[in-house]
Amino acid sequence: MNPNIEPLSIIYHSHYDFPVPKIHSFVGSKFSDLFNNLQKRYPSSLNVLTPSSANLNNLSQSHHIDYINKIEQDKLTKDYLRLINLPWSERLRERSFLEIEGTFLTAKHALKTGLACHVGGGTHHAHFDHGFGFCVFNDLAYTAINLINQKLVKKVLILDLDVHQGDGTIDICNKYSSIYTCSIHSESNFPYEKKQGWIDVSLALAIEDDEYLETLNQTLTSIQEQITPDIVLYDAGVDVFSNDKLGNLKLSFEGIKKRDQLVLDHFRNKNIPVATVIGGGYSKDHGELADRHSIIFDVALEYLKKNNFN
Ligand SMILES: [Zn+2]
Repeated sequence: MNPNIEPLSIIYHSHYDFPVPKIHSFVGSKFSDLFNNLQKRYPSSLNVLTPSSANLNNLSQSHHIDYINKIEQDKLTKDYLRLINLPWSERLRERSFLEIEGTFLTAKHALKTGLACHVGGGTHHAHFDHGFGFCVFNDLAYTAINLINQKLVKKVLILDLDVHQGDGTIDICNKYSSIYTCSIHSESNFPYEKKQGWIDVSLALAIEDDEYLETLNQTLTSIQEQITPDIVLYDAGVDVFSNDKLGNLKLSFEGIKKRDQLVLDHFRNKNIPVATVIGGGYSKDHGELADRHSIIFDVALEYLKKNNFN
């Protein structure tokens, strides 16, 4: 590694993976798949940080204590589990407390260094008192609210470019005037009941790179005209990909890369810290999925290489 280039802070825990049957859409091994992919390709450019488990006081800022207790004591009823739609396990419980803290740690490192990337996160469907759509707790809401409550920042932007709208994030954060949610998502994808956040852009089915990037560009301009956040929590979901199992947009691998470059350049060139999370991505080909989730890390490392010469 060039000694003049700062390593990229990435946040990961070896207990992020959890058991999911092969027929399920969620790939329970994607966190270690991605981490191994990154370690192999960037053996000396990463500063790996490990989160501890979220504490109950912080967690109760974004979730109802009764719901937290149900998770902690393995007492979720079938109705709750049906909404989450993942097989319950001790590991799923453990990693749910780790992953939200991982996003908070990513944000705290982004505040120190300008840019940090979580090998996890983006559980944006989880609501205040229940989980939903593969999400147990909401890492983005948890992080934004705790950043504000601990007076680490005054204004947070959650930029959610996962193909699915982060309905849980919007619901939890709507009462905070200092948290701004911006989502660009597919109109006809899950969740079918959309929420109204600060900025919501619903895209038509099967949109391709050019139209998507043009919309993103306009949205970034609109954000810039209205606020200057102290930090951006960026959900870089890769289920916008043309061959994603659950997404219905048609972005190419190169299009996702341009999307991530546009976002990082836009905010980092204004010296606004960016914390990234991986968000959704679904494929039976686990290697392909790890490559797709690694795009945001590739772009972040390229950004550091371009801009971090001392
Ligand atoms: Zn998604």
